[in-house]
Amino acid sequence: MVKEPEDLVDRDLLHLLAYIKRLPLPSDEVIAGRKIEFGEIIRHKTLIFDLDETLIHSKMVPPGAPQMSTFAQGGGAQSSGDNAQLSFEIQLPGAPPGQGRFLVTQRPYLRMCLEHLSNYYEMAIFTAAEQTYADLIVDHIDPERKYFRHRLYRHHCIKVAEVYVKDLRIIDDRTFEDMVIVDNSILSFAAQLDNGVPICSFVTTTAYTPMLPNNSGVDMMGMPVDQELHQKDVRIANRKTFQLTQLMDDIREDGEDEQMDDDEDDQ
Ligand SMILES: [Mg+2]
Repeated sequence: MVKEPEDLVDRDLLHLLAYIKRLPLPSDEVIAGRKIEFGEIIRHKTLIFDLDETLIHSKMVPPGAPQMSTFAQGGGAQSSGDNAQLSFEIQLPGAPPGQGRFLVTQRPYLRMCLEHLSNYYEMAIFTAAEQTYADLIVDHIDPERKYFRHRLYRHHCIKVAEVYVKDLRIIDDRTFEDMVIVDNSILSFAAQLDNGVPICSFVTTTAYTPMLPNNSGVDMMGMPVDQELHQKDVRIANRKTFQLTQLMDDIREDGEDEQMDDDEDDQ
């Protein structure tokens, strides 16, 4: 049976939204105890990036594996227009011998994208990873700290059930209408669905497959964030583009979605 475009909604997404709908989000009292400030406002809008599977993919290096070559590590040699794969290793301090090594691969065109976006947005990292691990990676991506003015880590997340929620209410001196969070997991921005830009997970298991260049650094990461800059309230644009809130509202209270029932009827 031919389906209407609006019927082609991913079932995994609906399950995640049903889960979010039941998730007891942090109370104002909890948030009050977690507040931080970003300080001086240098741009109208703030772009907040997840790290793993959004900007990079990392995998643990098995004990005894040889060190990567200098060329493959890439160092800081990537120019803004460079499409070379830049993988590098990090070593967690204090890890037992042979352990704590991670091979990190940057999303293609990452630095070109960041270079472009940093002209227009205040940018921050918000990761559910531990600070030690995250800093090793972000220091490599942004050694001069010219892209990310702020870094938030696992201890800034609020654990709800088994989810580390990145609740934007903790950022006390920015408004919701001016914050966008780009994350490969919608669970991360469950507390403010309309502030989220869901991005396809970046995962690499083998050698790099080059991407063809597109017109802008933004497109290269598949993110429609350029449009956010021109919004008075980013939530309005996101609600229209991604329709996450609408989809969640349409899910019945018992957790079963009408659409999913219809799908099963068709089979
Ligand atoms: Mg992630």
